Amino acid sequence: MATTADSWLRDIGLIYRRTISQRRSMSASADSAPFIRQLQNLSHVPMIYEDVELLDYALEILPLQDLYAEAEDLYEKDKSWSTQDYLIRALLKWFRNSFFVWVNALKCTRCSSESNVVGSTQPTPDELRDGAHRVEIHECKSCQHRMRFPRYDHPRKLLTFRKGRCGEWANCFGLLCRALGSRTRWIWNAEDHVWTEVYSDAQKRWIHADVCETAWDQPRLYEEGWGKKMSYVIAFSAEGAKDVTKRYVRVPEKAIHRTKISETELGVALRNITTSRRASLSPQERASLESEDKDEIKEFVTYIYGMSVATSSEENRPRETGAGEWTRVRGEDGAH
Ligand SMILES: [Zn+2]
Repeated sequence: MATTADSWLRDIGLIYRRTISQRRSMSASADSAPFIRQLQNLSHVPMIYEDVELLDYALEILPLQDLYAEAEDLYEKDKSWSTQDYLIRALLKWFRNSFFVWVNALKCTRCSSESNVVGSTQPTPDELRDGAHRVEIHECKSCQHRMRFPRYDHPRKLLTFRKGRCGEWANCFGLLCRALGSRTRWIWNAEDHVWTEVYSDAQKRWIHADVCETAWDQPRLYEEGWGKKMSYVIAFSAEGAKDVTKRYVRVPEKAIHRTKISETELGVALRNITTSRRASLSPQERASLESEDKDEIKEFVTYIYGMSVATSSEENRPRETGAGEWTRVRGEDGAH
């Protein structure tokens, strides 16, 4: 009898454990569904960069002669990068110094005093058509005059509007990198920052480029310089989607724990986006991208904690765009 009771208890235990594990796996899927949808939506952002007519329009705006002259100068001094790489570096400088304006809060159009962001409002049909889904209300600290500040998502409008924060900067800069002929990724970080990567044919790797900071190949800038803690960093492009967190988060103690999705589900979600983006490519093109994917994984392996090389002085700097309080609240002021 003892044997029967034992086996009954064992069966009950087994059923109980199965139910728990089923519930856990079901709840993991249910919980991760919004994040998978978010990734799918985000993956469309850089697809705008493939609009040939828009790229032509963007090229008309660029000071091409100046950018090429600077790139060739730099190439003469150091041939470890290509002219194309230097072209993007020249673009970084021009974009920040001569093209775009960073806006925390607008200057009052009546009395030129500073303003505060006091709320938001609905976009007008025109703003909506140009890709502004949010409009901030800025109020003058001195005369209380209120101004609208549309946050445009479409790079076509941004080419003439030329104002915003990292979202607008990275979006428009990515388009211009693509217009100049570089393979370009739009990089999304779950902790509210976006930037760019371009592929270097000379170095055979993806290069970090953050136009807000005129940063080139300084992937540890956020973790070391800003003291920013990050969980997910995902690259999106016309060639697919990739988890590139390992390039930017090198020290596990400085990372935010990843809880939005299981690692397996994340891998599947990104693979699905990649497969659909590459569906129309030739088998040779697909094979070439897959070989590059493998090289990137090998690159990430070299970033294992303790083996990574020291940061450069360029990476060990606090955030340059954004006012003090704004960066402090975001935990990006370099206070570790
Ligand atoms: Zn005013």
